[in-house]
Amino acid sequence: MLANRRQFLALVAAASAAATHSGPIQAQPVPTGARIVILGAGAAGTALANRLTARLPGARITLLDPRQAHLYQPGFTLIAAGLKPASYSVSMTAEWLPRKAEWIQEAAAEIDPEARRVVTTSGRALTYDFLVVATGLKLDYEAIEGMSTDLIGSNGIGSVYAGPDQAAATFAEMSRFVEKGGTALFTRPATEMKCAGAPLKYAFLTDDAARRKGTRDKVKIIYAAHSGAFFSVPIVNEKVRMLFEDRGFETVKNHVMVAIDPGRRIATFDTPEGRKEVGYDFTNVIPPMRAPDAIRFNSPLSWQQGPFAADGWLEVDKHTLRHLRYPSVFALGDVAGVPKGKTAASVKWQVPVVEDQLAAQIAGRESTARYDGYTSCPLITRVGRAMLVEFDYKDNLVPSFPGLIAPLEELWVSWLMKEIALKATYNAMLRGRA
Ligand SMILES: Cc1cc2nc3c(=O)[nH]c(=O)nc-3n(C[C@H](O)[C@H](O)[C@H](O)COP(=O)(O)OP(=O)(O)OC[C@H]3O[C@@H](n4cnc5c(N)ncnc54)[C@H](O)[C@@H]3O)c2cc1C
Repeated sequence: MLANRRQFLALVAAASAAATHSGPIQAQPVPTGARIVILGAGAAGTALANRLTARLPGARITLLDPRQAHLYQPGFTLIAAGLKPASYSVSMTAEWLPRKAEWIQEAAAEIDPEARRVVTTSGRALTYDFLVVATGLKLDYEAIEGMSTDLIGSNGIGSVYAGPDQAAATFAEMSRFVEKGGTALFTRPATEMKCAGAPLKYAFLTDDAARRKGTRDKVKIIYAAHSGAFFSVPIVNEKVRMLFEDRGFETVKNHVMVAIDPGRRIATFDTPEGRKEVGYDFTNVIPPMRAPDAIRFNSPLSWQQGPFAADGWLEVDKHTLRHLRYPSVFALGDVAGVPKGKTAASVKWQVPVVEDQLAAQIAGRESTARYDGYTSCPLITRVGRAMLVEFDYKDNLVPSFPGLIAPLEELWVSWLMKEIALKATYNAMLRGRA
């Protein structure tokens, strides 16, 4: 067993090294005096700023972001599983940013791509030659009637998404629930969302916590899918269906949470048969997700029609991430209106594409860099086990370690990828080295 564990650890170290050390930036530097404004200094904005300062000597790079803290969001699930403290996900934005870039600690309030101008919340106007929108997304808790983030950690309400402290409060609430038993209700919104595996992960982790506590027979788990499927990739959906059945979950489909009554512990759903109420003793609220208001309401950059229009996602080409109407604008990360890719793992593959597209545009040549929709989701199925699900725009499974890590098997090594390797890869990405 020990030897096996050692082999596994060696494999994870190798996998981590392979993922982290894709080598320094080797592409030809492009000297320029271009003014590049990046909105958002989260996973995507920071990684791009670091790569661009190396790739574009002389460029004047400005980042806008009011947030002082950098949040490693994939860690929220581990915090909500009681395996890490809230501090695990928190570092300072300033530590990650390149010294050569300017950081304005304000949010963008409106964008005028005709005038190539961004206005900040204090009214300061900035002009640019190139704009990269990397604002992430808005967690629209208010769209669920009766819901507020202040409720997280009381009355059976958890929410892994809201932040590290709320993830810790969710763990405390989930722990109280598994002591006593009752009904746990899991949902996901009908909008696009980041890390679509996270709602499933937390249902599995609650089941696991009850089994460990010896109270599983006192716990009913309901998973309410927003559509006719539990996961958008058909082969993964089938695997999840089997696991849910195996673990004794009850499931309902086409249920979208629209209201919550914390006092009565009742959630209301829109369903094809009309409004339905479902009682719960514990629930992990996952809000609808949309482009931030500055993009959605105060810019013309969102899709004007089609599936990404209503929530304001940026209208970009899904392979080049360049705006379809404003060629000097790019989208990166969660805010991009592309069919897949709202994970940090996707950001890792998107950043070099935008870097190269931008450098090529400045140099007056065509870039061949393309993003293929790569999305990775370490789907935790219990503490110590996960499936490393990776796919692309075509729903093809695209395993990074074929023959070594089977994507649809619950493996300890896949768990280690999430628990250990992912953060190292993420940090290397922030530095522009992965
Ligand atoms: C619970 C949970 C679990 C996850 N698990 C995984 C996982 O296992 N694997 C994985 O790969 N990914 C995972 N993710 C997803 C991953 O964290 C995100 O996809 C990733 O952080 C997206 O990067 P981003 O830069 O687009 O957005 P963010 O990292 O969210 O950064 C956006 C930044 O933009 C700033 N901003 C917002 N509005 C404005 C504005 N108007 N002006 C200026 N700045 C603005 C914000 O302050 C923020 O700093 C998870 C996420 C959550 C919440």
